[in-house]
Amino acid sequence: MVNPLKAPMMLMARMLPSCEEVGQMVSESLDRRLSLPERIQVKLHLAMCALCRRYASQLVFLHKALHRHAEDAEARKEPDRELPDSVRQHLQDLVNRESQA
Ligand SMILES: [Zn+2]
Repeated sequence: MVNPLKAPMMLMARMLPSCEEVGQMVSESLDRRLSLPERIQVKLHLAMCALCRRYASQLVFLHKALHRHAEDAEARKEPDRELPDSVRQHLQDLVNRESQA
């Protein structure tokens, strides 16, 4: 029996960016505003891809944590303080994940 959803699903999959491209766009989104087509592609991909969702949320978490740390250090005038353990652990996890991929 033919799955009537197969053709449209495959068409959609071809139009959507790969996990690698989505990772790139998510990381760029922290530095610049993505274009509307890029935002749509990322949103659709994240809706279907749990791995990229996790990667994106880790990236956003890190970005916020680093910002917060920078602001805290600035406020206390301690620019050379070490990263908090939670951030260090997340960085380590990301590095591990990258090296396994
Ligand atoms: Zn993905």
